[in-house]
Amino acid sequence: METIIAASSNPHKIKEIQAIMTKYGMKVISRDDAGVPPFEIKEDGETFEENSYKKASAIMQATGKTTIADDSGLMVEYLGGAPGVYSARFAGEECNDQKNNEKLLTLLKNQVGDDRKAKFVSVITLIFPDGETLVARGECEGRIIGAPTGENGFGYDPLFVPAGYDRTFAQLTEEEKNAISHRAKALAKLEELMAER
Ligand code: IMP
Repeated sequence: METIIAASSNPHKIKEIQAIMTKYGMKVISRDDAGVPPFEIKEDGETFEENSYKKASAIMQATGKTTIADDSGLMVEYLGGAPGVYSARFAGEECNDQKNNEKLLTLLKNQVGDDRKAKFVSVITLIFPDGETLVARGECEGRIIGAPTGENGFGYDPLFVPAGYDRTFAQLTEEEKNAISHRAKALAKLEELMAER
């Protein structure tokens, strides 16, 4: 089984990436477990693609090993695509998931129907030691409900109901989320790209 390094230290993301990459014979370890000394990667790109590439290439250069990075976020139609690439720090540098969710609910408090439409986006970048780079994007459409519901997952999961469901991502099991999520779709696309190499 090939070991690849995840540019993330978010355990939720790594678990989701691992659950899917196992199918393709790859073991995913975090940058911390790979012994990469902590250093900050500036995520100052304007797109998920730019930030995903920045993360993957920084860790590949630091380790010389095949590296996978996910840059992801939530885009709300009524907010013109915000929080987008700022999803992790929507409520400011010192924020957390709860504060981000509260800010989102406040901004949408008078909105109903289509004004609550949103989608999650994930851009996965896989870089091999020779520099070969594969980029895959996945999206999952849905809507933002009025109050946090459910205990699973992370981030905006308790507020997001995927299209065709009546439960939030935080109420779905890991397996259910991993079957339809933006990250799962990006990883499925990545698999197609790997098969074409
Ligand atoms: P990143 O780590 O810079 O890619 O930031 C991603 C941010 O987007 C996370 O901190 C979450 O706020 C949000 N996000 C991305 N994917 C998910 C998901 O699957 N569920 C909930 N929130 C997510």
